[in-house]
This record gives sequence, structure tokens and C-alpha cells, in this order.
Amino acid sequence: TGSAALKLKASKQISIRGIPLLENVQGVKKTFNRHLHFTVVKDRDVATQRDYYSSLAYTVRDHLVGRWIRTHQHHFESDGKRVYYLSMEFYMGRTLANCMINLGIENDVDEALYELGLNIEELEEFEMDAALGNGGLGRLAACFLDSMATLGLSSYGYGLRYDYGIFTQQIKDGFQNEVPDDWLRYGNPWEISRPEFLVPVQFYGKVIEENGKKKWVETEIIQAMPFDTPIPGYNNNVINTLRLWSAKAPGKFNFQLFNAGDYIRAVAEQSLTENITRVLYPNDNFDEGKILRLQQEFFLVSASLQDILRRYKHSKPYSATDKKPDFTRFPEKAAVQLNDTHPALSVAELMRLLIDEENLEWDQAFEITKKTIAYTNHTLLPEALERWPIDMFEKLLPRHLQIITEINLHHLDLVRQKWPGDEERLKRMSVVEDEHKVVNMGYLSIVGSHAVNGVAQLHSDLLKSTLFKDFYELNPEKFQNKTNGITPRRWILLCNPDLSDAIASKIGESWITNLSQLSQLRNFVNDEQFIQDVQRIKLENKQRLVEMFKDEYNVNVNPASMFDVQIKRIHEYKRQLLNCLHIITLYNRIKDNPDAQTVPRTIIFGGKAAPGYLTAKLIIKLICNVGRTVNNDPVVGDRLKVIFLENYRVSLAEKIIPAVDLSEQISLAGLEASGTGNMKMMLNGALTIGTLDGANVEMDEEVGRDNIFIFGMTVDDVDALRKKGYKSKEFYDREPELKRALDQIRDGFFSPEDPNIFADIIKHLLDWNDHYMLLADYAEYVKAQERVDQLYKNQTEWTKKCILNIAASGKFSSDRTIAEYAKEIWGVAPSDKKLPAPEEGRP
Ligand code: PLP
Repeated sequence: TGSAALKLKASKQISIRGIPLLENVQGVKKTFNRHLHFTVVKDRDVATQRDYYSSLAYTVRDHLVGRWIRTHQHHFESDGKRVYYLSMEFYMGRTLANCMINLGIENDVDEALYELGLNIEELEEFEMDAALGNGGLGRLAACFLDSMATLGLSSYGYGLRYDYGIFTQQIKDGFQNEVPDDWLRYGNPWEISRPEFLVPVQFYGKVIEENGKKKWVETEIIQAMPFDTPIPGYNNNVINTLRLWSAKAPGKFNFQLFNAGDYIRAVAEQSLTENITRVLYPNDNFDEGKILRLQQEFFLVSASLQDILRRYKHSKPYSATDKKPDFTRFPEKAAVQLNDTHPALSVAELMRLLIDEENLEWDQAFEITKKTIAYTNHTLLPEALERWPIDMFEKLLPRHLQIITEINLHHLDLVRQKWPGDEERLKRMSVVEDEHKVVNMGYLSIVGSHAVNGVAQLHSDLLKSTLFKDFYELNPEKFQNKTNGITPRRWILLCNPDLSDAIASKIGESWITNLSQLSQLRNFVNDEQFIQDVQRIKLENKQRLVEMFKDEYNVNVNPASMFDVQIKRIHEYKRQLLNCLHIITLYNRIKDNPDAQTVPRTIIFGGKAAPGYLTAKLIIKLICNVGRTVNNDPVVGDRLKVIFLENYRVSLAEKIIPAVDLSEQISLAGLEASGTGNMKMMLNGALTIGTLDGANVEMDEEVGRDNIFIFGMTVDDVDALRKKGYKSKEFYDREPELKRALDQIRDGFFSPEDPNIFADIIKHLLDWNDHYMLLADYAEYVKAQERVDQLYKNQTEWTKKCILNIAASGKFSSDRTIAEYAKEIWGVAPSDKKLPAPEEGRP
């Protein structure tokens, strides 16, 4: 078929990593056959496609291990400062293609499989996503690992090995169903368990005093079993480690039950403790406040910090001597970065380990803790801020509550010194909120660290002026910005090989590790051949999707139509509903004026709603129902199509993003901390329609206002309107097209079988005064979309702006972000030195 030919062409065109070498190809074939036989234990008569995937994965893994061991030796010998990235989420996606690209063996493997009569792209589809994340925060952690390895940092990711990642989303009749993500069902060739580094984690118990020292006793112990995944740098022979902890029953019986003779029950109940790492909490930007989640957070923190201290105590200066470790020098050898407040217990646990286990004095321990830890804030949304009830906290972690209480006393002393008599401020700044009886984890993170950063300039500024204003006034030197970024290896080289090739044919390959080099593409903005190439590549990427729409959704899409895409978690603040109101407006315009020439659009949504977030689920239903009406209306034809993609995830993002024409980034100003999907689409030659929110502000600065569709209220406008008194009904009364769309939703136009189903949506927008101010931005949004249509009619001008967007996207490489963290927070230096390859002998 046409699509098979396209696929073949896509894989054959990857030329920027050279041509396959015969001896390498032979080697790959040999290793592949050996793994099929000795590891998978099949012969080619009975092997399935999945078996071939497994053999391929083990073959590629063989290329990693020598470099992995080497990297460890190198880090040990050079004994530089290590960077530890602690995160409850690592949204890694698939590993196979990324490994091949970073190792530079993609073409050898491709050729070898071709000669074996296998299709590498089909095999890649058998790999389950490692979907241990919700959205941007977890994917950021994954991009950071790639950049840290590529920049040669001695760095480790620490996280949890959930048995079940983010649920698989099924859409039935427009309703979301959640299916457990059993990602380990067929085994995971990329991980290696390390039972020799098992770490005990304590819970519950009580605190006693012995010889003037506090002791945490009668605790329940759960073992943390580490699983390591290799993280290859790009073309530098560095392989770093992502270490994920899995809960393991302690292996000792509950003696009371055992003595009573209930042996079977004692053994069976053991496995209940392993529930700690069973499943990822599926909330994005929302804190559920459940005790199991607090257990998960402490499990990550305690296991990781114990492991980090062990590594310090066994590091080169101490390894062959009986010299006692000098912990005052620990911050020179370890930086711990907290990905949001989820690992904020690190502050208390590091204090406990230093004081209770290593016998340091309070002041010294606190100095060390502060110098070691830094905190990244990811949101201002109040419902996302972690505040744990003191009761729950004390029961689970009594020693830690004591430590936090004492940290707070010292902290409040400093506040008192700076603002004597300011009782209100003292109350506002307390880590332990007496009024609500909660521990504020954001405040704990600030007090216990030397650096606090937001994830885009606007967001970092808002932290200083709103959420953390008091803390900024106390310690202005702590506050920084680190604008998020994305790894160009996965988000263009891997997902868009043809565009990568086209770029390389003009400006070489240095942009792959120095993305600001893309600015050279400005020299080709009037190069007709290049414009045509970029157009052709986009069209081919879209055609591949069109096939999928036909196969999976039975919708015929015109590949020449504008692909207008909003892919991200479903959340009211991200305003998928605003997009939906625009669709209804377009539909009504076509119906009113059936013969008018319009710019054909295919509007694509993707994203999961948290299972308990009913409004978000209703928004999915509305999108699907509007799609049903629009897609089946013969008057509309192929001028307007609406598709809700099922189960948006990293591997699906890799297929969609290269095919996007228009990227929807339309959150209410001030609420999206950064966004990273926005950067991915910009890098792949989409134009953005967006508000001045998060990193959109910086994209606008980089590309210039002529090349981006900015609309709507600014943060200041939002503030002013709220002060003045926002009334959404005034906008409803004022805008006839808006009124009509809302009336249709309310009156069951899109849901004749259940006319009232969307009543809650109307309630939010009208009766409850539209908290996210969609109605206030509607008119400008529709106008901005008209400008989009105008430009799309001129494909050459459109493509020129796409090229200018690609050229201006260099700032948004996570290499740049990580270089800034390295210099301004961690105090480590990136290196472009290539480690020797395994066959080159010991370094
Ligand atoms: N989910 C996935 C699978 C992603 O790849 C991304 C990418 O950045 C996100 C969520 C975050 O999207 P956004 O920044 O638009 O919220």
C-alpha cells in the first residue's frame, strides 16, 4: 500500500548517521540470532513478532553494557560532584529507537533486520511505553536524563518502579474508561534488578529519647529493591543510570500471626506491603492527599538518600581506607534536585540520616542539607499544592514531624529577626500551618534548599510576586528561573527523521547537540527547494496519520486540511472547551453559509482525564459528541473534521507532533507554568496559536510576533478583570456566536439522546462564573483563528513561518536548560568529551 511505501521511504532516508558497515551488520545479525536462541529460547519456525522485538532489544542492550560499566568506572575514578534528580515520575516512553540513535547504530541494525526479512518499525510497535508519568512534569524528567547524559554529567535519576503506569485510556461512546497499564507483562529487557543494593525503609513506630538522643523505634520495615535502566548520552559513550525502587516485603514474618499458627496468612499478608509501588497516581496538577501517596513519596526519598549516602561513604577517597567520611564536604560531591514538592521529605530525611544515623549536630546537618538540596516548583494552581495533614504525617513519620517542627522554629526565628512584631507574616510563613493542621511541603522545600526555581520566566516571576512572595523577601538570592526544554534527540531526530535530514542537508549536524544552531535556517527561508522539502515532509507525516484515522476511527481526513492539534492532559485551565467552542462556531458558519469557501481543518484532540475529574471527563464526551455531529454532516464534507485520539502518550506524541500544522496552547494566562508540548510542535515546524502564558511568552520573544498567533488576556488583564468583577454572562449576552454555541450545548443539540448531559459544563461557564475565563477570551480567539485561516491559504508564506519557528526553537533544548541548572544550581561543568568506546581499552 501507499503507506507501506512511505514507511519504507522514511526509514531508508535516514542518512545523517552514515551508511551501514558490512561487518557491523553481520555482527548485529549474529547477536540477534544468538538472543533469539539463547535468551528468548525460540527458533524462527515458532518465533512471533514480539519474540523478534525482544531479540532486537537484547541485541541493542548488548551494545550498551560495556559503555555502562565504563561510565561507572569513569565516574568513580574522576569522583566529581554527582547530580541526583529525584522525581515521582519518569515518563520515558519507548527505549529501543532512542538507544539505537544515541549509540549511532540505527542504520546498521536497520540493514541487518532488512536482510533478515524483518521490518524494524513494525517490531518497535511491540515495545510498551514506560509510562511512569502523567504529563509534562514526568516527561521533563525523561528529557533531563537524556540531556544530563549527553552533557557528560555524572547524574542519576531516582524514582519509583510502578507495576502499573498511567492507565490506558479507552473511549467508548465518547466516555473515557480506564484500563490498568500492565506494562511489565512481557518482561522489561531494559532494566536490571540490583538485589545487592536492597535498602530498608522504615514507617510508623514512635520516637524515644536515649542518652539525650532521639531514636525512632518499633518501625515497620519495607525493603526497596533497585531496578536500573541505562540512559545513553548522544554519541559520547556515556551511559548513566535511572534507578527505580520497587517495594519488597521484608522477608520476616509477622511473628504474632506466626506464633498463633497462621503461617499461610502471615506469608500472604507480606505481599500487601508491596502495594506501595503498585500504581502511579493518575493526577496531573492535583493533590489527592492519600496516605498511600505519602508512603510512596517517603519510600522514594528514604531509599534514594540512603543509597546516595552509601555511595558517598564508598566513594574513592574513602573506599580503600578506614578514614571516617567527612559529611561537611558532602555538598561538594552531591546535588539533589527535587522535581516539585513530591520528594520534599528529602529535607527531613537527610536531616534524620545525618543527625540520628551519622551523629552530626543540628546546625551542621542543616547547613549540609540546604547546600545539597534544590527545589523546582511546577505550578501555582492551589489544588496542586501538597499540604499533608499533621495527624496522618505524625502517624506515618513521627520522627520527621519532629524534625520539621524544629526546622520551622529555626526558620520562624529568622523571620522574627527580619520583621520583628509582624505576627501576620509569621503565621503566613509557617511550614506547619496551625490553622489547617497541615504541613506545607512547598514551604518546607524552600526552607530546606539553597535554590528555588520556576520553569519559565513568567512562572518564576509569578512565584516571587504571589505564591512565595514572603519567602522571596526573606531570601531573594534563592529564587531563580530555569525555562523548561525538550530533548532534540527524541523530539526531532527520532520522531521526524525526514525533517532532520532536510535540516542536516542545509546546516550539517551540529544542531543535534547545540540546538541554537538551528538559527542558521533563517538563511534558507526564501530557498524554494527547502520550502518545498519542508512542505512535502509535513504532508507525508500527515498522510501517515490519515491512514491511522481511517483504520482506527473510520474517519476520512483530507491530508491537505489544516491539522489543528491540542494534545495534553484534559484540564479546565488548559481550556480544551474554548477550542471546542471554536469548532462549534466554525460548524455553525458552514451550516449558515454552505457554499462559502473555507479553509479545511482537521481538529485533533488527545489527552487523558484523571479518573476522578468528572468535569474533564465530560469535556471529552462533549468533544466526541461535537465530532459525531460535525463528521457525519454531509453539508460539511471534508471542510471540518474532529478527532479525539484515544490514549495519548509518549509513543503516540511521537507520531502526531511531526504532522501538526497548528499547535493549540490556549491556557488562561498565569496558569500554565511552562508547557513543553508547545516546544515540541514548534521544533517540528508547527505554528502556535496561544496566550501569553508559560513558555509561550518566550517562544513569542524568540520567533517574533509576526510568526506566532498570540491572542487573549495577559496576566495583568486577568488580574484587572477579576478586580473589576468578571461576569461571564455579560460575554454570553454580548457575543451572538458564543451564545448560540452555549445554547446548543445546553439544549442537547449535540446529545439528542440525552439532552441534559452537558448541564454541568454550562453550569461552570455561566452559573458559576467561568473560573478559567473562556468567555472573556472567546472573541479574540476566534479572530486569531481567522488570521490563521488567512495565512494557511498562502502555503508558501505559511511554510516560511514554519521554517522561522524551527529556526527560533533552539532555546528550548533541554541541553540548554540542563547547562543552566549545572552552572547556576548544581555547581558542575558539562563536558563534550567522548568517553573511550569499550573496544578502546580502559580509560
Ligand atoms: N503528555 C505527553 C505524552 C507529552 O509528550 C507531553 C509533552 O510535552 C505532555 C503530556 C505535556 O504537554 P503540555 O506541555 O502541552 O501540557
